[in-house]
Amino acid sequence: MPRTPEEAAQIIMRYTPEACQEQNQFMAEVFQTRGGRIGSGMGGVIEALWGFYLNRILLREGVTDIQLAWIYGHEYNDFACIDIASEWDPETRQGEFLRIEVKSMVASADESKAHFDRLSSEFLPDELLAVFLWDWAPSTATANLVHPRIHDQFINKATGVAALRDALHINRGGTFVVDGHCPDNCAPGTCSHVHEPLNSAGKRERISGPISTRGTGKSSYAANFGGLLRMLTSRGATAATGARIIEEHMASNASANEYVRFMARNYSRISRRNKFET
Ligand SMILES: [Zn+2]
Repeated sequence: MPRTPEEAAQIIMRYTPEACQEQNQFMAEVFQTRGGRIGSGMGGVIEALWGFYLNRILLREGVTDIQLAWIYGHEYNDFACIDIASEWDPETRQGEFLRIEVKSMVASADESKAHFDRLSSEFLPDELLAVFLWDWAPSTATANLVHPRIHDQFINKATGVAALRDALHINRGGTFVVDGHCPDNCAPGTCSHVHEPLNSAGKRERISGPISTRGTGKSSYAANFGGLLRMLTSRGATAATGARIIEEHMASNASANEYVRFMARNYSRISRRNKFET
């Protein structure tokens, strides 16, 4: 049965909570340890396991025409939802319904190292963003054993979250490079920096931004853009307009609505600033 990318997206979204539950059972049984390192790559393991558990559930539920394929060669975990009956070519995206960008964050860490910082212009409409919030949880009090556990998860359209992220970036005084107006004075049509985010001080947010806007000091770019939690916060004079932008997006953008609720039910600093029921 041929599917649309939208149908494939709905199936993946529907079975993700169940995949996380089963993954949690597995991790509680197998990944027991004393200690429990942060920043050790366990987040990457959790991201990858989700894909395997989702595939298992699809088979069990009789969904035999699509599956997730783990994309080779990306620096972050990325899956493609592919048509089982077709040849898959990750270069041309032949045989793909959509892609899923997967991120994880440690609940007790102040801010995730992961950034959702791909440019809005790079997304196809049906791409999904998945975020797993996890932490070490006690297995047995007596033996001091812990295991990783997903506390909560988000999965929905990447474009919806990116739209909110970009609007809040502009509200904070940030900009995006426009063709013909690049700080590096690139000739129109030849600029590789178009759409690159610059912060309110005019410094580049990503290493691929204009060279003349590199930061001073030890970091050559700001790296605040797309911080999974940071992207929702607005301080000082921009706080009130930031809260209004979040409210507007929540009313008109289902993915942004779910993302804000996901963050608000897990981080009181988000729920305090935005007055809605979680
Ligand atoms: Zn340029």
